[in-house]
Amino acid sequence: MKAKYDIVVIGSGLGGLSCAYILGKFGYRVCVLEKHFQIGGNLQTFERKGCKFDTGMHYVGSLGPGEVLHRFFNYLGLLSKVDVKKLDEDAFDVININGRKYNYAMGYEKFVAGLINDFPDEAEAIKTYASKIKELGENSDIYNLREVDLMDLTNINYYGISTSDYIASLTENIDLRSVLAALNPLHAGEEAITPLYVHALVNHFFITSAWRLTKGADQISEALAESIKEMGGDVFTRAEVVKFHFNDLLMSAVETKAGDIFEAESFISNMHPSLTMDFIPDDKIRKSYKNRMNNLRNTISSFTVYLVLKKNQVRYQNKNFYYYKTNKVWGVNNYNAGDWPQGLMIYFTSDAANPDFAESATIITYMKYDEVKQWENTSIGNRGKLYKDFKNLKKEQLLIRVAEIFPELNDAIEYSYSASPLTYRDYTGTREGSMYGVMRDCTRPIESYISPRTKIPNLFLTGQSINLHGITGVLCGALITCGTFVEINEIIREIDKCYPAEFKVTNNELAD
Ligand SMILES: Cc1cc2nc3c(=O)[nH]c(=O)nc-3n(C[C@H](O)[C@H](O)[C@H](O)COP(=O)(O)OP(=O)(O)OC[C@H]3O[C@@H](n4cnc5c(N)ncnc54)[C@H](O)[C@@H]3O)c2cc1C
Repeated sequence: MKAKYDIVVIGSGLGGLSCAYILGKFGYRVCVLEKHFQIGGNLQTFERKGCKFDTGMHYVGSLGPGEVLHRFFNYLGLLSKVDVKKLDEDAFDVININGRKYNYAMGYEKFVAGLINDFPDEAEAIKTYASKIKELGENSDIYNLREVDLMDLTNINYYGISTSDYIASLTENIDLRSVLAALNPLHAGEEAITPLYVHALVNHFFITSAWRLTKGADQISEALAESIKEMGGDVFTRAEVVKFHFNDLLMSAVETKAGDIFEAESFISNMHPSLTMDFIPDDKIRKSYKNRMNNLRNTISSFTVYLVLKKNQVRYQNKNFYYYKTNKVWGVNNYNAGDWPQGLMIYFTSDAANPDFAESATIITYMKYDEVKQWENTSIGNRGKLYKDFKNLKKEQLLIRVAEIFPELNDAIEYSYSASPLTYRDYTGTREGSMYGVMRDCTRPIESYISPRTKIPNLFLTGQSINLHGITGVLCGALITCGTFVEINEIIREIDKCYPAEFKVTNNELAD
């Protein structure tokens, strides 16, 4: 098969699909090639014993009317196609550190009041923290879908400040420092490394409002693919790109494993930047650029346990739980094999037949790729007995840890499954199963910024390693990538134009 398009997108993660959608809307003939049998990358879901599980999208922020994700969802035609539920406003995240519980409440006022209640002597530090997070979240034009000046340097200073240093500058209280840094797993935060800007954006999205995608994140990928096709584009699964073809210094086509050739004027890679480099022959690109992409440090991977629960045994709670064994919130990703896991996140889904009770639970913790490296040359379902034993042992260790906060789970498990860094690597195609792609590093702010333009003039990048990870980070990254084809402010104006007037609430009104 040989086909010709304006733009071929390699990979159907959120970044790839949203680029294809936006450019399709602007009249480009697009084609998305996905290597897996299911589209979506981290948006994929799977079913076991009638329960649907998400793989890499557990909750999303800022999806209330007027908020940034709501505007994106409206533009992408997702508002009526994706089922969502707001998490508990008084405690969308419950942080359990060293046996004590703290609530993250929605809305800055409630968030601040709740923490002051826990730390009455720290009111000043808490208020300063919250106003800085809010300021950074609201100052950014792109994250508020306001027209952007691409040279906007408003928040640049905060790329060079570490989250841990900033929090430490506010208070001597170690417990409060830990509570403020407790959503670290949402960006695989590292002490003295993670820029305050990254922490601020992610926390801001969720403090503004936090939501569960109740019927699974694949509703997003399915709806986007359907719209892309309606606009005349194509989306192919089982279409692994294995080769880039060149005509002199420009790309001319990509070739899939099946030998199909897809020609295009331009190409967008939704693969990790270093994986993209693997397809570019050395004589087409400067070695220093390739080396830079290949040497970027990635965020850590994860180990996840999925539980199908016995009926009517565990009460459903509409929130997420973060658990840290000690108040060393920053060290959890830098564990020794003997003290793993030092922290975890768990959430439940409710049973449709009896919503007061949980039907399933998902437990996520960090895992280093090194732990599974010995099986890296194996494929899904063929990794051998040692690997299965390893996974079972790790599952048991994680279940022992989770029983420290949910002892009732012990007798309530009907079935359990687990996913290792290799599972993530093989289902989502990320380098070493990295959770969020390239690590943002405040000590190397420029180096960890990746432009959507590559040194090949008609090859562009998108996805979580460009800009920021997570649903809003990837969507804003897609805007930046599409901004190399269509003037970015034209896209932003379109997003605004189609947004219903009744939803246009300002941030200030929301804060009231
Ligand atoms: C455990 C976990 C939990 C998370 N939880 C949340 C959350 O609660 N909220 C949130 O907002 N974010 C969350 N994230 C982050 C979020 O899922 C990601 O940032 C986002 O989905 C990444 O999108 P992407 O566009 O970079 O593509 P990816 O999801 O990385 O997809 C890339 C796609 O490219 C395909 N591909 C790769 N190579 C090829 C090839 N050669 N040919 C064709 N196709 C190829 C892959 O198969 C894949 O489908 C989580 C991530 C993880 C890992």
